[in-house]
Amino acid sequence: MTTTAPTSVNDAFAAAIELLESARTATVLCHVQPDADTIGSGLAIALVLRRRGVSVQVAFASPRELPESMNELPGRDLLAAPDDVRGVVDLVVTVDAGSRGRLGTLADRIDAADACLVIDHHRSNTHFGTLNIVDADAESTTAVIVRLLDAWNVPVDADLAHCLFAGLVTDTGSFRWVRPGSHLLAERLLATGIDGAAIARKLLDNHPFGWLPMLGSVLGSATLVPEAVGGRGLVYAAILRGDSAGLRSEEIESVIDIVRTTSEAEIAAVFKQQSGDEWTVSLRSKTAVDVAAVASRLDGGGHRNAAGYTAHGTKADVVDALIDALG
Ligand code: AMP
Ligand code: MN
Ligand code: MN
Repeated sequence: MTTTAPTSVNDAFAAAIELLESARTATVLCHVQPDADTIGSGLAIALVLRRRGVSVQVAFASPRELPESMNELPGRDLLAAPDDVRGVVDLVVTVDAGSRGRLGTLADRIDAADACLVIDHHRSNTHFGTLNIVDADAESTTAVIVRLLDAWNVPVDADLAHCLFAGLVTDTGSFRWVRPGSHLLAERLLATGIDGAAIARKLLDNHPFGWLPMLGSVLGSATLVPEAVGGRGLVYAAILRGDSAGLRSEEIESVIDIVRTTSEAEIAAVFKQQSGDEWTVSLRSKTAVDVAAVASRLDGGGHRNAAGYTAHGTKADVVDALIDALG
């Protein structure tokens, strides 16, 4: 594989369109523990390819099931289980994945393909494709895909808009982290006739009753460390396996959005126990600290104000390791 380095964003889009137009078979890979941005992006690209007659599959390596909140997204019939993902295709497209590691066990599909198109918005992206479209200023990967579709003269209809809005509304925190143009993009997607309120409710505001006692126990043991990060403060909570029994990833992932609102702390962390000593960790910062850099030091990655990594050890070990990494 050779790496193409186009000189401008427009050249990159033109090169991407050439790859997409010449593929007869394609695999679209989403990141592990998928969120609505990676799935919305993946399904949108795959819907466009299928309409063009391309034989296409969409997949993520783990967990086995698509999060329930995403089960109404158009194109979900294109999803294939990891074991069913073809070994050799003309083109692999990765969406919203900052590094090969984020593809889990499916990363090897890149090596068997003629070309790999990386579409993403993580500043930490390692440019692991043969062609990389990475816009670190984009609100979501779905926002990058809208620009690609525009350059490709592909009209955005209601099915595509549904997928694309899903990534936009979730990655902007319901339009809190926006920039000039974000609302125009939302308006354009909504004008296709999609029900934005219903999409947002299904993705973000729909938890079983068991969520409430889980929050009670997890938030009840949240800890504030005012002296951490040079006095800027850290707040953290841990979700033990027992806390989340019977609940979905949606309930677990919701906790960081509550913890991070603590006004006394610049940094918020949620430690999510996966097994005995394995934890996935969500990090958020308000303004002063680049948590992507912190997460990178711990073998993770992400954005300046939202990042994550995997840690091993007891709860005390992983908390201490984070406090050390925060300096
Ligand atoms: P999360 O806390 O899982 O919502 O993740 C926040 C951000 O960090 C997202 O943009 C993720 O893509 C990124 N991220 C989370 N976990 C990892 C990881 N293990 N490695 C690299 N990036 C990660
Ligand atoms: Mn994502
Ligand atoms: Mn994203």
